[in-house]
Amino acid sequence: MSIGEHDVLLFDLDGVVYIGPDVVPGALEAIASAIDQGARCVYVTNNASRTASQVARHLRELGFAADDQDVVTSSMAAASMIATLVPSGDVLAIGGEGVRAALVERGFNPVAVYTDSVVAVMQGFGENVSWADLAEATFAVRAGLPWIATNLDSTFPSARGIAPGNGAMVEVVAQSAGRKPSGVAGKPQPALLLEAIRRTGAKRPLMIGDRLDTDIAAGSRLGIPTLLVGTGVSTLGLGHDAMGEERPTYISADLTCLLPDKSWVALA
Ligand SMILES: [Mg+2]
Repeated sequence: MSIGEHDVLLFDLDGVVYIGPDVVPGALEAIASAIDQGARCVYVTNNASRTASQVARHLRELGFAADDQDVVTSSMAAASMIATLVPSGDVLAIGGEGVRAALVERGFNPVAVYTDSVVAVMQGFGENVSWADLAEATFAVRAGLPWIATNLDSTFPSARGIAPGNGAMVEVVAQSAGRKPSGVAGKPQPALLLEAIRRTGAKRPLMIGDRLDTDIAAGSRLGIPTLLVGTGVSTLGLGHDAMGEERPTYISADLTCLLPDKSWVALA
């Protein structure tokens, strides 16, 4: 298997290109080489709190050649999902700046308080999300409005340890409102990868990730090939033994398999 068979490589971030503040060893050289070989490298993240340009700037600071257009977030995918449900108007935006920016890009007006003019709810991660924000979301969700969650990750890796993720905050609203979200954008749901494919015009994408239950499952649900790297959450042994949608197409210890003289292991 070789990189030339793919026009766009979709990279998960944490555990694939960086781990917390540190670049994964070999990732800089591997991605630079992939770009040299003609592949478009695109970064897809479930984290809704940052805007695409903030993520791209972070990647450039780490040494990656990333334009703003090379980053697709779950907020961008969630805003697209809302656009299929309601054409325009005020959307209750729960989460960080990335949530609001994605709604504005789609022509919506993000608001912080539920009123009669609100047509939908978008809920994503934000470090400043408060009880008052969750109460506003609950009022709107109980009123029956469409409610799109950017992702359902139950935990969030913080500098001081494991903290509540957006899935935990969504569950608070679900319990208070007595219903589940109308839709979810992030992995393992396919909307985030679909958004990246739509924005890049990818014909033969490859999804590269470190988690079987999110990255690999999302690729499988779209029917695109997947590569598990062993630098993050799921071990190569788990990848080897995985079945169904969690079974990767390829496995590699790290991203150096993208270098021109390296080969990838395809699972049977
Ligand atoms: Mg990851």
